[in-house]
Amino acid sequence: HTTLDVEQIRKDFPILKREVNGKPLIYLDNAATSQTPQQVIDVIVDYYSNYNANIHRGVHSLSQEATDAYEQARIKIQKHFNAKLSHEIIFTSGTTHGINLVANGFSSLLKKGDEIIVSALEHHSNIVPWQMLCERTGAILKVIPMNTDGELVISEFEKLLNPNTKLVFVNHVSNALGTINPIETIIEKAHNVGAAVLVDGAQAAPHIKANVQELDVDFYVCSAHKMCGPTGVGILYGKEEWLKKLPPYQGGGEMIAEVTFEKTTYADLPHKFEAGTPNICGGIAFGAALDYMNTVGFNTLANYENELLEYATSQLQAIEGVKIYGTSKHKTSVISFNVGNIHPYDIGTILDKLGIAVRTGHHCAQPIMDYFKIPGTVRASFMFYNTKEEVDTFIASLKKAIMMLS
Ligand code: PMP
Repeated sequence: HTTLDVEQIRKDFPILKREVNGKPLIYLDNAATSQTPQQVIDVIVDYYSNYNANIHRGVHSLSQEATDAYEQARIKIQKHFNAKLSHEIIFTSGTTHGINLVANGFSSLLKKGDEIIVSALEHHSNIVPWQMLCERTGAILKVIPMNTDGELVISEFEKLLNPNTKLVFVNHVSNALGTINPIETIIEKAHNVGAAVLVDGAQAAPHIKANVQELDVDFYVCSAHKMCGPTGVGILYGKEEWLKKLPPYQGGGEMIAEVTFEKTTYADLPHKFEAGTPNICGGIAFGAALDYMNTVGFNTLANYENELLEYATSQLQAIEGVKIYGTSKHKTSVISFNVGNIHPYDIGTILDKLGIAVRTGHHCAQPIMDYFKIPGTVRASFMFYNTKEEVDTFIASLKKAIMMLS
């Protein structure tokens, strides 16, 4: 049993006090975006109230304060993910931006006939950029299949690997099913044939603290908004050797060393990949969000979330007609399900009337839905500020919805 004082934690999140359709909000759409604690909101208000200025440009005091806070946030993020160097942390607008930055960079490194591997469990943002990369370069896209539990089939992955494999892309946790993928094994096997690995950590980062040096991963991307931070900011971790090899993604201010009309030389890392004025406040608030979770204790939060997941799963399984998609033992925070032939959208609509926020649809992972031959699922996803009482209300409300719809 964990020692997390959830009632105390909930006081940090002002939004959890609100009502929706006359009922207390029960927010179970955390895999889409998480809520923001007062401690992070305060940092955002402080930034705009006291030291809003552009960074890395002015000699004036405000600009230096903003630059210091932004660079301190980078160091917090570096420490959180245990990157070796702070300039291996590139601020992005989010996971999607990080993936596109790497995919674009590899355009100049790949040739016709090179092979890249994605997994059957990917979010569209970790499929489409690689398809576009293949169109540009003539590289071939291969897919690691999954089994009926929603787990990647590693023996099939091994068969796809060969000396032409240049890149492997896989998410750490599937947003549609909650499966935790065996990225340690995938990274090791990919490296054995000389391929680089990008891990999409969007869904894992709120629940699992990735140690990028221990994983020996080449690129790791995530978004602040899924981990108690604001939208519009995220990071790309890249090994220094790779970030030096990749060309810049966008041209502009901040990313240059010297510009003449004949030739431009690029700035050193991380600025080479940070063209234009970044989301300064967002970056600082991302650092504050990590502080918040690490102060409570990242593992304490994760253990509690796992208890909630188990509790909710067993309650759901007890309801007649419920089918859960994603039945791996290695899961976190997400339950995707359907009830009989009821359309997920109808369940989501009734739950909303009862104050409960869930996601319905394909969750930007249409290939997974095609695999199970369904249009979509209802997805309940948990964060450490959810409670067992909320799960009970969710289950009771779901039963009401089922009665109304059958
Ligand atoms: N990958 C996964 C696994 C995700 O869950 C998400 C967000 N749903 C993304 C990528 C995209 O993240 P963002 O929209 O923050 O760029």
